[in-house]
Amino acid sequence: MRLVIMGPPGAGKGTQAAMIADRYSIPHVSTGDIFRKNLKEGTPLGLKVKEYMNKGLLVPDETVVEIVKDRLSEEDCRKGFLLDGFPRTVAQADALDQVLEEMNMELDHVINIDVAKEVLVERAVGRRVCKKCGSTYHVKYNSPSRPGLCDECGGELIQRDDDKEETVTKRIEVYLEQTKPLINYYSEKGLLLSIDGGQDIAKVGEQIVKALEI
Ligand code: ADP
Ligand code: ADP
Ligand code: ZN
Repeated sequence: MRLVIMGPPGAGKGTQAAMIADRYSIPHVSTGDIFRKNLKEGTPLGLKVKEYMNKGLLVPDETVVEIVKDRLSEEDCRKGFLLDGFPRTVAQADALDQVLEEMNMELDHVINIDVAKEVLVERAVGRRVCKKCGSTYHVKYNSPSRPGLCDECGGELIQRDDDKEETVTKRIEVYLEQTKPLINYYSEKGLLLSIDGGQDIAKVGEQIVKALEI
């Protein structure tokens, strides 16, 4: 299965992507995760994307497209993949089409998680991630069994630098301007599955699985 999951910052893409990737045994390809890993390791790519991420702006299309192209040509993506956080602009979506065409592949579905703007800030600001394994929690809606510690690996839970309220607000603006047009883009191609992301994590997951298996 070749999937894209999209939605505004804090909608629950990463949370649902982890479930879907596990259920269908496909790699979870998150451009945000790739960038954060490079930032942490201080690679040239990390240095290049740091300013954009800290300001809540999009990394330039050419940079992102190159990363995704390389990742999709890895062996494990032959059996399918789930793209999370990419594409984020119409130019990226066009580039993805081209990359897939060259590889003789097509997308099966684009999952769009629909969440009211008011809910997004609370979700993103309350997000905590494991420093060690990247698992995602929420202080109120998905808290770990031991405060501040990851259930999966015992690692320390931290707040992302770009999850401060001011940056989240900026990221939502950027989403509305540059990413939201992709809803029409994929709807016109007949690929869009729209999911009500206002429900709890388990319910959203059930809706996604139901939509994928119709
Ligand atoms: P995204 O990848 O779209 O930015 P995440 O999956 O990281 O979003 O979720 C953002 C925050 O909201 C996390 O703290 C997550 O635990 C929490 N969250 C995700 N889905 C839900 C939901 N359906 N209800 C409440 N909180 C949620
Ligand atoms: P969220 O899931 O909360 O929307 P991500 O982890 O997907 O956040 O992205 C974090 C940041 O990484 C973005 O604000 C942006 O700076 C950068 N980024 C990730 N994916 C892309 C992309 N496809 N195009 C441009 N920038 C991206
Ligand atoms: Zn962990």
